[in-house]
Amino acid sequence: MDFKEFEKSIITKFNAIFFTKGRSRRKLDRIVIHHWGRKGQNFLNIVDWFCKWNNRHTSCHYVVGEGKIAQIVNDSDTSHHAGNWDWNCRSIGIECMPEKHQKDLHLVAQLVALLWHRYGKLPVYEHRQIVSTDCPGIWSAKEVTELAEKYFRGEVVKKSKSKAIKEFFSIQISKIKTKKEAEKIVRDLKNKGLNAYMVSKETGKGKVTSYSKNALVRKAQKSLGMRPDGLIGQITRKSYVSFLQKALNKTFKTKLTVDGVLGPRTKKAMSKHLLQYGDSNNYVTALQILLYLNKYDPKGIDGEFGNNCLKAVKKFQEDNNLEVDGIVGPKTFNMLTRI
Ligand SMILES: [Zn+2]
Repeated sequence: MDFKEFEKSIITKFNAIFFTKGRSRRKLDRIVIHHWGRKGQNFLNIVDWFCKWNNRHTSCHYVVGEGKIAQIVNDSDTSHHAGNWDWNCRSIGIECMPEKHQKDLHLVAQLVALLWHRYGKLPVYEHRQIVSTDCPGIWSAKEVTELAEKYFRGEVVKKSKSKAIKEFFSIQISKIKTKKEAEKIVRDLKNKGLNAYMVSKETGKGKVTSYSKNALVRKAQKSLGMRPDGLIGQITRKSYVSFLQKALNKTFKTKLTVDGVLGPRTKKAMSKHLLQYGDSNNYVTALQILLYLNKYDPKGIDGEFGNNCLKAVKKFQEDNNLEVDGIVGPKTFNMLTRI
């Protein structure tokens, strides 16, 4: 696996308050996995709980869930997770989502592989091996270790569904000669339930800036299925909010009414989720449309948070006096919806 690339996806902007500087002269020689117990809780709330004052005075190094990893205590410091001081000083603690979705299992295994890459092959333990507890629930150190071995040896090459589609699409595109053929492929893909759309080149040489900026808005409007006039009015707003609501429902199983109104329930749902480099889902598609509507160019509406999307997000954050971290949290999303 590409460790550098993987490291880029770790969120580091949250920091725990319960930790002890350094390792109290002990050597880091193990990893402990946990789960946060009650199902149905979301990643951001858990990160928040660990970072703020909490009644158990507890923390960990990494929190993994919903396809994301946040590091809240540095590897070189001691986090308070094992319920045993010697173990705390010698280990890295990983908190996992109790649902143990496949995506998160793979992520924890990749994280373990990364830690091995940094510190050698540290053994992985379950919390219940140290103290009397049910933690980490259905998570198994053996399963994580075996999968981490595969990542460490470079055996697991996961191809995301959308990447496979993209490959398929680019092969087809290279064969396209006419617009009709292109339309047929788009139809075929749509029939398969995929998010396909036509992209036409609108910005040519000699066009003035305002035109090319409008072209960005028009591109968003086209993907919303609207008449692309390049002007943002009531219909465009309503249409993108509906898209956003559908994307939230599809990606996070929120049960929002799709009414095109950016009300408190929609805003609350938005405040609970982060988007970052490497994400691939419908909510990213909504983000890309919003970037276009704000006249920033993520170079495509494909539901994948890649380098161009990251660049566009950072530029938007910079221009709007937000923290330039490339992570789309509630503040950035809020600002994006002020069109
Ligand atoms: Zn635990």
